[in-house]
Amino acid sequence: MLQDISLLRIPGPSPIPPSVQRAMSKPMVGHRDPETKELIERIKPRLKKVFGTQQDVMMITGSGTSGLEAAVVNAASQGSEVLVIVSGSFGDRFAKICEAYDMLVHRLDVTWGDSVDPAEVRAILNENPNIEVVFATYCETSTGILNPIANISKVVHEHSEALVVVDGVSCVGGVETKMDEWNIDILVTGSQKAMMLPPGLTFIAASNRAWKVIEENKQARFYLDLRAYRKSLADDSTPFTPGVSLLFGLDQTLTLFEQEGMEEVYRRHEMMKQMTRAAIKALGIPLLTSDEFASPTVTAIKPETFDGETLRKLVKKEFGLALAGGQHQLKGKIFRIGHMGYCSPADILQIIGILEIGLQKMGEKVNPGQGVAAAQEVYIQMTKQEA
Ligand SMILES: *Cc1c(COP(=O)(O)O)cnc(C)c1O
Repeated sequence: MLQDISLLRIPGPSPIPPSVQRAMSKPMVGHRDPETKELIERIKPRLKKVFGTQQDVMMITGSGTSGLEAAVVNAASQGSEVLVIVSGSFGDRFAKICEAYDMLVHRLDVTWGDSVDPAEVRAILNENPNIEVVFATYCETSTGILNPIANISKVVHEHSEALVVVDGVSCVGGVETKMDEWNIDILVTGSQKAMMLPPGLTFIAASNRAWKVIEENKQARFYLDLRAYRKSLADDSTPFTPGVSLLFGLDQTLTLFEQEGMEEVYRRHEMMKQMTRAAIKALGIPLLTSDEFASPTVTAIKPETFDGETLRKLVKKEFGLALAGGQHQLKGKIFRIGHMGYCSPADILQIIGILEIGLQKMGEKVNPGQGVAAAQEVYIQMTKQEA
């Protein structure tokens, strides 16, 4: 196999567009030089559109988890009563961060593969009026669920004074996001998923309500103190040396978003989801999630007649196609296809075509082309409606 072919189709890190790669190879500049200030000035308004907010979106150099931790230590403090909605391993991570800071954590555990029922959130809030913050996951990457985040936010605000904090790491930039309209108080995303960048940056914005809490919060914090990021950002700067090369890349990523148009970006992800699901169904393989709550950025497949790990190894070895396995309780039970960021319907046809070969080689009864044909049909139907 040609060694430098790598088909990275895991739910992050995701592939980098060539123009973004080139932008990141520019010579280094000083982080206090006018070039960097102009760069941040250019990025600022465009990043707001991706979040659907009028608030400034702060950039922290760190992986997505640093963004989650920033949300926790700025919105709550040691001893705070919080509710964490856990629909998979990333919800569980939010809970672990809150526990690490000795917060009083209520967990709403949802069966992995299901979406959150806002009525259950309401019930917990009604029973526990002192909950200060509700933590939720928009796309639960470990299961491929897109939680009904607008409805969850609505229920929280109707039934409590709690802040709504959302982990949007694996979908913001690929799925419609309206932070202000949905009254999300803190929204976090990362660079290496739908934002088409390497890992290393996290983005976070806060509502006016959240800022009041953040300003008065007594919780100790330093690198992740959002007050410092807000102050610097007002001056088109960052409090510490940012991942400058990643900012070069972000500038270009935003240009790609603008050239395509966000509506079209969202439609492309929706199409990739539907193509993938139609293909897997046509091959007679069960999906983990319902059609209603399936994420446009990642699809989880739950094989019953073959071992997903064997299939993953086979397609990696023969085609360089990297797919993800399951995490924690879903380890060995599912495999996942990432279709986010730098990914198109053409890539879905390739992934499905390769999977069909793998399944054939494993002795599964599939007709080559059956899944691809179903995906092609979805593409043709969805683009016909557009014409
Ligand atoms: C990838 C991811 C994160 C962040 O993970 P890092 O490895 O810290 O970048 C957080 N939440 C979700 C939902 C994710 O998919």
